[in-house]
Amino acid sequence: MLQYIACGENKFIVIYLKCGFFRNFDNMRDGDYMKQNEEYRPVDISTLLGKNEDDPIGFRKFNSKYRREIDRRTHTDKCYICKKECKGFCNSHTIPRFSLEKIAQDGMLFNNFAPFDIAHIDSQNGVEKSIVFHLICQACDGSIFQDYENEENYVSPPSQVMLAEIVLKLKLRYIWLKHREIEAYKILTENIPSNSDAEYVMRKKLNEAIYFRKKIENEYSYAKNIINSKGTIADSYQIELFAKLPYRTAVAVQEEYVVYVDLQDEIIYNIYDTDNKKIKYQRGIYVCVFPMSSFTVLLVFRESNNKDYMDFFSDFNVMTLDQKLQVLNYIIFSYGENYMISPSVPKETIDKLKIAAEKNDVIRSRSDLDPKVVGAKHLINSFSFSKMDSIPNLLDSKYALPL
Ligand SMILES: [Zn+2]
Repeated sequence: MLQYIACGENKFIVIYLKCGFFRNFDNMRDGDYMKQNEEYRPVDISTLLGKNEDDPIGFRKFNSKYRREIDRRTHTDKCYICKKECKGFCNSHTIPRFSLEKIAQDGMLFNNFAPFDIAHIDSQNGVEKSIVFHLICQACDGSIFQDYENEENYVSPPSQVMLAEIVLKLKLRYIWLKHREIEAYKILTENIPSNSDAEYVMRKKLNEAIYFRKKIENEYSYAKNIINSKGTIADSYQIELFAKLPYRTAVAVQEEYVVYVDLQDEIIYNIYDTDNKKIKYQRGIYVCVFPMSSFTVLLVFRESNNKDYMDFFSDFNVMTLDQKLQVLNYIIFSYGENYMISPSVPKETIDKLKIAAEKNDVIRSRSDLDPKVVGAKHLINSFSFSKMDSIPNLLDSKYALPL
């Protein structure tokens, strides 16, 4: 059984009780530096913390105490953007609130835990709590993102500034998550025996998180410059798809995806090849699905200087719209976590997404095999687009909500 300890709104450390592995269950954008050799040793953290699923009250208590401590340690009075002091941060939504409201029922939505059915973790939450972060003030939240959070601005393909706003919103959320993750690792490190395997793993994860926070902060500055330039910096982003579906999809998405395998089963990023510089500088593509009043905006773009997906897009761009929807649906549920689903989708359908959502699995290999080679095979086997029709396509009109 999997066991999750929440350390942020959608950010979790997953404990593999079954195999005793301990890993980070982010949206995998960080890469996953595991190796089945002396560098990565099995740890049964549940024993160390004395908390498991058989003790729901203990688990909930531990969980809320742990989260409160992360809140305390990450507390600040300054807005990340304007640096001004503010009393209480804005409840910033990553996916525009108007899109979430369009697919909610009685104000509720299925979250990214719905496919898993995990004891003690809610599979639904209100619009208020749907993929939010707390890092910026009300004034910044209400002014900087106005172009992209406005339905009327999607008559034609979005401007460079709108795309930068989408990226900036995501980077802010990732920075917020990294702040919390870093403190989470520190707290866990303080609570486990020093010089243990668990401590070793924890310190390694901590260092990675610090490295990636810096990387994301640089990416944030890049997007911020484009916004500040008011559009005078041209061609920073390349739109690969802008479509308006004549119906309202049952899912809303705004996310950056680091895709490992392309449409021809060639590796884009072998995350097990940890010495490879490409992994350190891995980059994603941006995907948005914004349900609106009378249509749904579908948007795929990348930074223009990001050439890692050239082969991927040369195949993608010649596909039919239906095929593209299937590809994007597969990416959304295999690679990311920033999605919310309408409760109008039957639970049996959501259950079928589990195959995609849980494939961020531990690589199981013999320790005498090269993790690079085994890892590549594992990635192709797990993420091949040849399997994309194995999950329901929630972008299809079949699941559309009435306009
Ligand atoms: Zn501010």
